[in-house]
Amino acid sequence: MCRMTIAKVAIDAALDRLFDYAVPSRWQEQAVPGARVRVPFGRREATGYIVELVAGQGGEVGGREAGKAEVAQDAAAGSSATPPELPGLESVAREPAARQFLLKEISAVEGEQAFILPPLLKLAQWLAHYYAAPLERCLQTLLPAPVRGKARVRERLFVEAVQGGARSAAKQTKSGAAKEGDVADAAALTARQQELLADIRRVGGGWLQALCAEFSCSPATLHKLAALGVVTIAPKAQRRDPLAKRRILPTQPLELNREQAAALAALKAAAASVTAAPLTADSSPVASRQAAAAPVPLLLYGVTGSGKTEVYLQAIAHMLERGFGAIVLVPEIALTPQTVQRFAGRFGTQIAVLHSALSDGERFDEWQRIRRGEARVVVGPRSAVFAPVERLGLIVVDEEHEPSYKQDEAPRYHARDVAVMRGHIEGALVVLGSATPALESWHNVERGKYRLARLTERAAVASMPSVQVVDMRIEQSRSGHVQLFSQALLDAIKLRLERGEQTMLFLNRRGYATSLLCPSCGFVATCEACAVAYTYHRVDDCLRCHLCGGWQRPAATCPACHDPKFKYAGFGTQRIEAVVATCFPQARIGRMDADATSRKLSHDEILGAFRSGRTDILIGTQMIAKGHDFPNVSVVGILSADQLLGLSDFRAGERAFQLMTQAAGRAGRGDIQGRVMIQSYNMDDYAIRHAAEQDFAGFYAQEKRFRKAMGYPPYGSVACLTLSAPLEEDASTACRRLASALRARLEENGDFAGIDLMAPARAPMYRIKDRYRWRLILKGPAQDLINQMIMPVLDHFPFGRVAVALDYDPYQLL
Ligand code: ADP
Ligand code: ZN
Repeated sequence: MCRMTIAKVAIDAALDRLFDYAVPSRWQEQAVPGARVRVPFGRREATGYIVELVAGQGGEVGGREAGKAEVAQDAAAGSSATPPELPGLESVAREPAARQFLLKEISAVEGEQAFILPPLLKLAQWLAHYYAAPLERCLQTLLPAPVRGKARVRERLFVEAVQGGARSAAKQTKSGAAKEGDVADAAALTARQQELLADIRRVGGGWLQALCAEFSCSPATLHKLAALGVVTIAPKAQRRDPLAKRRILPTQPLELNREQAAALAALKAAAASVTAAPLTADSSPVASRQAAAAPVPLLLYGVTGSGKTEVYLQAIAHMLERGFGAIVLVPEIALTPQTVQRFAGRFGTQIAVLHSALSDGERFDEWQRIRRGEARVVVGPRSAVFAPVERLGLIVVDEEHEPSYKQDEAPRYHARDVAVMRGHIEGALVVLGSATPALESWHNVERGKYRLARLTERAAVASMPSVQVVDMRIEQSRSGHVQLFSQALLDAIKLRLERGEQTMLFLNRRGYATSLLCPSCGFVATCEACAVAYTYHRVDDCLRCHLCGGWQRPAATCPACHDPKFKYAGFGTQRIEAVVATCFPQARIGRMDADATSRKLSHDEILGAFRSGRTDILIGTQMIAKGHDFPNVSVVGILSADQLLGLSDFRAGERAFQLMTQAAGRAGRGDIQGRVMIQSYNMDDYAIRHAAEQDFAGFYAQEKRFRKAMGYPPYGSVACLTLSAPLEEDASTACRRLASALRARLEENGDFAGIDLMAPARAPMYRIKDRYRWRLILKGPAQDLINQMIMPVLDHFPFGRVAVALDYDPYQLL
């Protein structure tokens, strides 16, 4: 038996365990932790990642390492039915006592550099543990699909003039090697060829295709020049640049106001402890040496328009000077060309953008640029928290309260929490920015886990908008029926139209009507597959399910009682658009919601038209509520604050408060005083009251009491287990059995006394895409404790054909 290196490999198939492979001497160098490898796996080859290297002996047996359940593999039920194999091992002796195994060898290591940096490997292990998800799934999460998949470097032919002029040029062979003596004479070139050669010299060479277009020649002409030995033509990697078509205007740092300067100073002070601690490849548990030195995260609480972005920009510049890279996370919907321009304008080619709207090739190239260290500042949505930035010094999470930071498939991580953990592992500073911090973050400030910096005033204008709540009960009693617009709001819009100012109207529901309802028998048109009411869309006259996307044509009469008075109830953005068009025939109206943006006009075009004043009124869902900066908007109308409160989850109040505050933040960004009007039937609700007063502290104090009393985050953790199956019977039976198993464990172990197990129940959306869904909810003092209590049960529970998903502190309890 000989000494050897054993690689513990996570394989790309959902088996949730590590397999041992021997590292052959020819791969010794490249086989580092984080490397992507090809390995024999059963009868086929598989791809995997080296998680750890251990010194071993030829006779060692690989065992289960990453003890996680295969929960969260909510892919089609049945995938877990794959029989467990030990493909890395082969039995060579039969006697049980002296059973010996011969380790199979890694067949190849892919790529020149490890795909996964050591700290990210640690981060993946933490993800697997904390969110109870299979390790290989977490490793996949680190890498964008094109990097994992088939995307490759794009090669194009590049033309370069040979040095030293036609006379002394040596003839180039195809491979680029020069052959002596076979030199083309300048005289041997035609006048046209000499002219072309001069042009190519002047522009310093270029892509074959581009040169042909620029100098109106054919590829054959250029190849002729190559044959004459005056230019070389060779394939070269061509970057697919997502910003190539944009004009990026360089910007200079602004002079900071007093508050901004103080915030930047606090940030720099916090970053002082960021040092280039050499990270070794050891993948010991998360608590690392660096942890002790990691800077305390900083919450930058600044009102809308207070100039947080300028503070980030200068903080990033500071870190770049010190030789560190940075990651900036922004919510997906705020990742607009304007946002990218703000960063690219300051940092030019050092910026890499990661965005789901990029082509596979662009994403591949951007990732490679980051990995090679060519781009040091990464801007992207939640998944950019995994960008392979080496010597990472700063992570900014802008609008940290945004629900879009939560991933809704396994691992169901929250990018803010991942950012904080990554900062902890790498010793980088984490800055969370918001005008309406999440309760969780504020709580962490209060208990000293985060530091606080504040911006209380707008940077570019003097005043905050005035906010008024309009009591819709009074409006209704005055007119005798349900009103969509109060008189006050109509008057305000009219006045702005006369003055040439702009208005934004906000309603967080797309479509035309929220349902198609029969007034005689109460029948509601419902999606068969999802058991939720259809939304009526007038543009294309159809009923659409907002859960599964299914649609059908509306019937002329009620399908149940054949009453022809079948009618639309409730309002969506399309209906608002129609009403506004009737009230203000002269107004130019834009609408932005998920339907509008998936149609002919893009996001950018709708916003561009509004920004440049080609539309007067912009109607939209939460898509228009944040991030955008329109100087000419002087009225923001929130049409139904009540509808924001109607969401059935524990964050409804917080979300309503945040949305109202963010939407209000759109008003009066230029030099005109802004006005915000919130229409509501619930004048007494504290979220609405505090939003009207722009009183975060007041709201926070009250919301805190509610969360504490209920044991909701940040005072506890909620685990949500969703079991689904094509037959409701299967889902409900499994759910009840799982509940009994969990209850038994709760009762026999005193450590778990603080955990509450709710009764199994149908999920609020009990059928989605023809799968029935049952729900088990647990509340406990901490996520780790709930994990400890449920994982041993889940690991051994016979789910059969039932798919199970585990979500901690969910953002939607559908
Ligand atoms: P926030 O992200 O806090 O909502 P922004 O960063 O969008 O605020 O800033 C709002 C506006 O104020 C922007 O137009 C920005 O250019 C401007 N601004 C920020 N800082 C300054 C400054 N120090 N001086 C002048 N204008 C500023
Ligand atoms: Zn549906």
